[in-house]
Amino acid sequence: MLHIGCHLSSSRGYAHMGKEALSIGADTFQFFTRNPRGGTAKALNTEDLEALRRLLEEHGFIRIIAHAPYTLNACAADEGLREFARRTMEDDLMRMEYLPGNYYNFHPGSHVKQGPEEGVRKIAEILNQVLQPGQHTTVLLETMAGKGSEVGRRFEELRAILDRVEQSDHLGVCLDTCHVWDAGYDIAGDLDGVLAEFDRVLGLERLKAIHLNDSMNPLGAHKDRHAKIGEGCIGTAALSAVTNHPLLQGLPFCLETPNDLSGYAAEIALLRDLHRD
Ligand code: FE
Ligand code: FE
Ligand code: ZN
Repeated sequence: MLHIGCHLSSSRGYAHMGKEALSIGADTFQFFTRNPRGGTAKALNTEDLEALRRLLEEHGFIRIIAHAPYTLNACAADEGLREFARRTMEDDLMRMEYLPGNYYNFHPGSHVKQGPEEGVRKIAEILNQVLQPGQHTTVLLETMAGKGSEVGRRFEELRAILDRVEQSDHLGVCLDTCHVWDAGYDIAGDLDGVLAEFDRVLGLERLKAIHLNDSMNPLGAHKDRHAKIGEGCIGTAALSAVTNHPLLQGLPFCLETPNDLSGYAAEIALLRDLHRD
């Protein structure tokens, strides 16, 4: 059974996203915890969160993914920006306790001239401050395309973060197919090799979710422009090889392709069709 869903808007509430996911044949989904380009969150609505929690349980969803805002930069040079990242992550993780057992994914950050080592040090420092021993959410580091000075373009950079975090049992990795492709990992030509490299550097047990996207740009372009499935440089066959890979069965696959709801429904149907159960 393929576990698949897509990114949904949370603007009409949490339970509404669950209903939308059901209507397009999804059994997982992703949403932004707050305005992705700002940072303000809506007032906490525990009834709505509880309604979603029940819906997920009743309909046999697997883990869903909350995505931190893009504006969060845990390794910013400016301490005010880092304080914003720290407070946002703390608040998001507190809210996620109303949906226990799910994922919180974030972009590690951009080091902007400080160098990747300093970036790694600062990101790990914030994780050490926000992770709580009893929390029920696994925090995911997303693999990045390497646009600008993004940290996380190499598996080794994510390894370096994991190595510096004390409570790393609360940490995992989300592999974005567009991002790793843009970073130079050839998932179309050598998926087995890329997964072997992931396993060697990070350990496949750290891999908790897949962002399934085609890429508008060629291998190693460091651009990060998502394309619809089959309309980019990775292609339908290679992306369906990802969803069918024996080492990846059971993971949540989440589309972040440029689509409206009906476009997502069609991509989910296509990938389910191409899945060998
Ligand atoms: Fe992302
Ligand atoms: Fe992504
Ligand atoms: Zn992206």
